[in-house]
Amino acid sequence: MGRSDYQSWGRYPRARQTVRRIHWMTDRLDSGGTDGSLLPYGLGRSYGDSCLNDGGILLDTSLLDRFISFDPEHGILQCEAGVALADILEVAVPKGWFLPVTPGTKFVTVGGAIANDVHGKNHHRAGTIGCHTRKFELVRSSGERIACSQTENPEWFGATIGGLGLTGLIAWAEIRLKRIRSAYLDVETIRFGNLEEFFSLSAESDRDFEYTVAWVDCFSGGDSRGRGLFMRGNHAETGPSAGSGPERSRARLMTIGFDAPEFLLNDSLMKVFNGLYFRRQREKRSRKLLHYEPFFYPLDAVGQWNRLYGKRGFFQYQCVLPAGGDREAARDILKTVAKSSPGVYLAVLKIFGDVKSPGALSFPRPGLTLALDIPNRGRPAFALMDRLDTIVRNARGAVYPAKDARMSADSFEAYFPQWHDFSRYLDPGFSSSFWRRVTGDRQVNR
Ligand SMILES: Cc1cc2nc3c(=O)[nH]c(=O)nc-3n(C[C@H](O)[C@H](O)[C@H](O)COP(=O)(O)OP(=O)(O)OC[C@H]3O[C@@H](n4cnc5c(N)ncnc54)[C@H](O)[C@@H]3O)c2cc1C
Repeated sequence: MGRSDYQSWGRYPRARQTVRRIHWMTDRLDSGGTDGSLLPYGLGRSYGDSCLNDGGILLDTSLLDRFISFDPEHGILQCEAGVALADILEVAVPKGWFLPVTPGTKFVTVGGAIANDVHGKNHHRAGTIGCHTRKFELVRSSGERIACSQTENPEWFGATIGGLGLTGLIAWAEIRLKRIRSAYLDVETIRFGNLEEFFSLSAESDRDFEYTVAWVDCFSGGDSRGRGLFMRGNHAETGPSAGSGPERSRARLMTIGFDAPEFLLNDSLMKVFNGLYFRRQREKRSRKLLHYEPFFYPLDAVGQWNRLYGKRGFFQYQCVLPAGGDREAARDILKTVAKSSPGVYLAVLKIFGDVKSPGALSFPRPGLTLALDIPNRGRPAFALMDRLDTIVRNARGAVYPAKDARMSADSFEAYFPQWHDFSRYLDPGFSSSFWRRVTGDRQVNR
């Protein structure tokens, strides 16, 4: 065991914790004679403090990276929980299989993906990763091992999917992959002028397109408030396989090896950048065959891009606004962020569908989700997110714990009232910085 400053992707807050590497699925989860609480850690791609355990122990799962079995007829993959989605893609795509659900980075582990019940651009069709998870083994700090599936210990299955790593350690999992015929996607990009157009495009696209998502320019106001680019796509039916074709898989272009000075990314520059990005597509619609990497993981091309935000890091404020009240609330949010400083440097919109996850504490619900990147400029950034919380709470929405670093215990209570029931499944030896903050539990260590 050693002390280390493992961080989350947003680099706020900072935490000091002891790190213990898990070598084998059969390892016992003791705290090494200390009284620190435990928390599994995948690749730290959560933005806030749900993967941090200040003053406690992190169980680094990156060595649990072995494949266990693969059924090539049905696409059923069993692997240890520290296997990264990138590793699965590398072996599965050439054989004609793809992840059933993927977040916007492939550098997340299977265990981390299940613990946050991640969603992707196909949520309206496929729901979350929990909907494609067949079984897993949960290891408790007591040494107990619980086999979990829809039929075996289903209450533990439901508590652990989206359970924020607090019910125990997922040692291995079995997920069902999806068939593809090509490593490419047939992608259409459509320019839209405002929020109303975004909603019409979503309604028109969600039936025929497996993947939909939109980028929005949060600096634009007036008639063009909510303008952006709508992307929709399907896996190509025929065409090049992995590693060939017009838009090949992109290797990493560069890695940011230093903390950029804060003045580098500022409101004026980002306003210009967003305007240029909107205009990068001259025509109303464009269509092309795109390799899955630039389509699903455009940001992965730049290693450690989070360092561009400087030492203080940044926040991603991701909320969901339930269908019905989503238009009004989304308008309020866009109006609020357009006036604010710091502004929102990058914004993504997506309509969630109604495919229900087995996860008890899962974040997605039918409606509109907005993910807003905000630089950490101290008090003004916090004040902005507090204003957004008021809008989200009034709309009976929720904020995504995987991205959160600052929501209050009251907000968490409003967004996830089911946490009281969920807490029956907490492992008494486990805790996280996030959990202590949002449940008002100040007891850091046992
Ligand atoms: C660029 C980028 C884009 C993203 N896009 C999306 C997106 O589109 N949709 C989305 O849903 N999320 C998205 N995310 C968030 C990311 O997918 C999640 O935070 C994911 O859970 C991170 O996985 P990880 O392996 O890095 O886990 P960590 O961040 O290290 O941990 C996440 C949680 O999982 C728990 N955990 C980790 N391993 C285990 C285990 N073996 N057993 C039990 N619990 C465990 C941890 O305790 C923690 O609570 C994005 C993140 C980035 C950086």
